[in-house]
Formats: sequence, structure tokens, C-alpha cells
Amino acid sequence: MERKVDALVLRTADFGENDKMLTLFTLQSGKLSAAAKGVRKAGAKLRFAAQPFCFAEYVLAQKGERFTVISAAQTDGFYPLREDLGKFYAAACVVGLCDALLYENIVNEELFLRAVEALRAMCEGEALPALLTFFLKALELSGYMLDLSACAGCGAVLEGQVFFDLTDGCFYCADCGRGAGVRAATLAALRRCAGEPAAEEPASQEEGQAGERRALKLLYAYFCAKTESRVRAVEEYLRLE
Ligand SMILES: [Zn+2]
Repeated sequence: MERKVDALVLRTADFGENDKMLTLFTLQSGKLSAAAKGVRKAGAKLRFAAQPFCFAEYVLAQKGERFTVISAAQTDGFYPLREDLGKFYAAACVVGLCDALLYENIVNEELFLRAVEALRAMCEGEALPALLTFFLKALELSGYMLDLSACAGCGAVLEGQVFFDLTDGCFYCADCGRGAGVRAATLAALRRCAGEPAAEEPASQEEGQAGERRALKLLYAYFCAKTESRVRAVEEYLRLE
């Protein structure tokens, strides 16, 4: 039986002499594994289809529960991501988060489209804001939505000094003061990346970037606390620079 799917390569592992096992995030069937035979040979026709973040239409042969790639037509190879280390790692974070949040064979069309959108945005512009926008959306789609506007204790509008409690996954005002202190620039970065219309602009580019890095740390700490899983790419990205 043959099956045609739109898919993004989340992960690859070598096996056999020239083969790779691909972990694919498919639009139509969610996450699945497929063998790509001979793709490690020089000049292999399907070599491109076994690269990280390749977005292609794959034709898969299905035998029982096993899939093998028969052919693939590339939709987008996201080449700019391969030419810039920061972008490469940020893109690895996107696919790593998908891999960690997805269960096998569970369809999640919106997460798929958001991942593709994030990779496209990274090709064209700054990687970190695109990663944060994706991360916030991925958390929301997985049931871990963050309220960036009001204190979870008293409902006051969050401004100035705020606090974040990892276990609750909630922000608190200075009066309620639960959890660890969060700088204003960190919350502002999260709000900008969440697309909140009233999000304040950073005073300088440096302040904006520092806020974004702290925002990524906060989201990742929250992700680890909630899912009890880790994403190596995020840890590597945070170590860059
Ligand atoms: Zn409060």
C-alpha cells in the first residue's frame, strides 16, 4: 500500500550500511518513522529527503506498521537555516520541540503549520523571536498555555516587577509575589512574540535580545517542569554565544 504525505523531518538516525531511519512529522498522520534506503550513498537521489528540517511530499510504502520512503518532492529545504549556526540551532529547537510534544500517529495540523511557518520566518529574519512565537504556540496547543497579561493570584494587570511560578505555570504581581522574579524586558519579549498588540517595544536592540534569551530560558524551564522531558537542541541553543 502506498501513501502520500506532506512531512517535515524531525530527526534522522543512521542504520544499515547506507540507510537512514527518519522521524517524520506528517500533516496527515502525525509523527511516524520511515526508512530511507540508500540515502547515505554519494549522489543518492533521495539524499535531500533525509536531511533535518526537509519539508517535502513523501510517498511511503506501508507494510504492516512499517514505512519506507519510495520517493519525495521537496516543498522547501529551508537552505538559509543551513548557512547560519544560530538559525540552524533555532530550527533544531523547533523540530526538537515537535518531537518531544508529539505522540506517534496523533494528527496535529496546527502544530505542523506553525512549525513550517517558524522555519520560514527564521529563513527570512531573526531566529529567536520566531522560535519564541512557535514555542508559545506549541505550549498552548499542548495544554500549557501561559497568561501573559494578568496576575494569577489577584487578577491585577502585570507590570513592573513580576514573578513566575514554574509549577503553576503562572505569572504573579509583586504583591502576590509567588515564584521567581522576572524582569520586565523578559515579559515584554514574551508578549511581543505572542503577538499581543499592546506589547511594549524594547529600549534598545541589546535589551530586546537579552529579554528574548531570558524568555527562552523561562519557557524551557516551564516546558521541562510540565513535560518532564528535555530537548537537547534548546540547551545547545542557550549555550551559544
Ligand atoms: Zn497579584
